[in-house]
Parts: sequence; structure tokens; C-alpha cells
Amino acid sequence: MPSTKRAEELAHVLQEDIERSGWPVGEVLGSETELVGRYDVSRSILREAVRILEHHGAVRTKRGPHGGLIVAAPDGVALVRSARIVLEYERVSVDNLLEARELVESATARLAARRRSDEDIVKLEAALAAETEGGDAVVSFATLHDEIANATQNRVLALFANVVDSLVPTHVSDESRRGANMADISREANRAHQRIVEAIVAGDDALAERRMLRHLRASRAVLR
Ligand SMILES: [Zn+2]
Repeated sequence: MPSTKRAEELAHVLQEDIERSGWPVGEVLGSETELVGRYDVSRSILREAVRILEHHGAVRTKRGPHGGLIVAAPDGVALVRSARIVLEYERVSVDNLLEARELVESATARLAARRRSDEDIVKLEAALAAETEGGDAVVSFATLHDEIANATQNRVLALFANVVDSLVPTHVSDESRRGANMADISREANRAHQRIVEAIVAGDDALAERRMLRHLRASRAVLR
């Protein structure tokens, strides 16, 4: 069997073992020497398998006396990376991405209005407050969209929304970010976000959806 195939198989076995033990984030699975013995593989196959799992965010390695292979919490970063490569290869248009984002995010706004918990409301309001506190405005604008997606209580939808959102520049293109109108754009986006959150907190799903759609369509103009 070619070594790449053996490494993929070992990665799969390791992942199944992590799943079976309840995905204990932070737990040390063993040192390289221990794992080579436990799985009866060569050092190079183990290292290749570890690279695969690291790429997916399932494990990390730590050096030192208490180090070794450690269980990690995958966070979807690898998914965004893969999606970006596929879409760039296929030369997907910005219009396609924006259309997909509008469909996904109007659905998240609608569901968030129906399902948001008290804890979600606290997080949504914290994200809104962070936007007006300055600092890295672009990052904090994306946070609100993430919190809305989380408030749907649907992890699959939240993950898709996160991928789509990460593929399109949020709210501003690189050109306008450098431009003098950044303050206007930020104020506008924050106002739109406030109105979306109001509708979500009020539990008005149709209104939340409409406001999200209007917000995303308005932001199309600054993305060109
Ligand atoms: Zn926004």
C-alpha cells in the first residue's frame, strides 16, 4: 500500500479513536514514540497522519516533557480554506457568492428571530457594542453575523454561513477600506446591524429577514 494511503487510513483510525473517547479537547493522546508503538506504524506514516489531522484542526502537537499529540477542537477554518481553493479554481463570480450569502443569511436572520436564547441576546448586544468601540472595525462587523448564525441553534447552518461569509469581503472592499468614507460605511453598517438585532430580539422573523436582506444588498454597492 502506498504510504500516503496508509497515512490517510491511520488519520481515520486516530479520528475514530478520538470520537469514541468523547472528543476530549486538550487531552494528550501520547508521545510520538508511544503512538508509533500503539498503532504499530512507522514514524513517517504517523507524522503524515498527524499533519492530515492538524490540517483539519482535529489535533495539535506540543513539544516538551508533557507534550505529544493533543486533541483539539476543529473550528471550520480548514473548511473555509478548502472552499476558497475550489471556488477560485472554478472561477466563481462575486455575484454568485453574494447571492449565496443573501440566501443563507436571510435564513439565519429568520431562524435567529424564532430561536434566539437569552444568552444569544447578550452576545448579539455585545457584538453591536464592540462595533462602535473602534479598533478593527472589519473584524467586529463579521462577529455580529457569526452571532446571528449561532442564534439559529443550527450548527450546520451556522457553519455554512460562516464559510460563505468568510469568502466575501465583509461590508467593505479593500479599496473603500483605505478610502476616507470608512467612517460613513461603518456607521451605516452598525445602524443596519442594530435594526436587524432589534427585530431578532423582538422575535419578528419576517422583519429580521427583510432587514438582513436589505443590509446585504446595500453592502453590494460598496463591494464593487
Ligand atoms: Zn453586516
